[in-house]
Amino acid sequence: MQIQEMKGDIGEICKRLNVKVTWLKPTDLGVNCANAKAKVIKVREISNTGDYAAALHEIGHTQCDADHKPEPGEGSVLQECRAWQWAIDQRGPKFDSAAWGRIGNGLKKYLKKARIDEGSAPSQCKEIMKRVEEHSVYAAPTPASLVPAKKRS
Ligand SMILES: [Zn+2]
Repeated sequence: MQIQEMKGDIGEICKRLNVKVTWLKPTDLGVNCANAKAKVIKVREISNTGDYAAALHEIGHTQCDADHKPEPGEGSVLQECRAWQWAIDQRGPKFDSAAWGRIGNGLKKYLKKARIDEGSAPSQCKEIMKRVEEHSVYAAPTPASLVPAKKRS
C-alpha cells in the first residue's frame, strides 16, 4: 500500500465512524492517543505501514473502549488487545511484517508497564502475539562467504 492510500483509508474510516482525527507532524510533540468517549484521536502522520497499523489501533480504542476508563495492570493490556484486535479485524490482511512488528512492540511495551511476563499474558494477548510471530520475517545472517571482502585502501 502507498502512503497516500493508507492515509486516505484512515481518513475514510474515521469519517464513516464519526471519529475526529488530528495528524501529528514530525515536529509536533506528543504521542498517538485516543479519547475513546469523545471519539477523538491524535496520530502521527503516516510514513510507513507501522504508522498505519498504529492509527487503526487508535481508532480501535474509540470503538472498543468508549465505555471504559483507562485501567491499570492487566486491564490496560486487555484494552490494548481489544484495540489491536479491532485493527487486525479491519485491515489485518493488508498488514506487512513491519505493521505486525509494530503490534508486537506495542503489546510488549504494555506488558512491561503492567509487569506481566509474556508467558503469563492474558490469552487474548497471547493469540495476537502468536500472529505477530507468524508474520515476523526472520532475517537469516548472511554467510561470511557472501560478504564482500573489504577493499584495501
Ligand atoms: Zn492503545
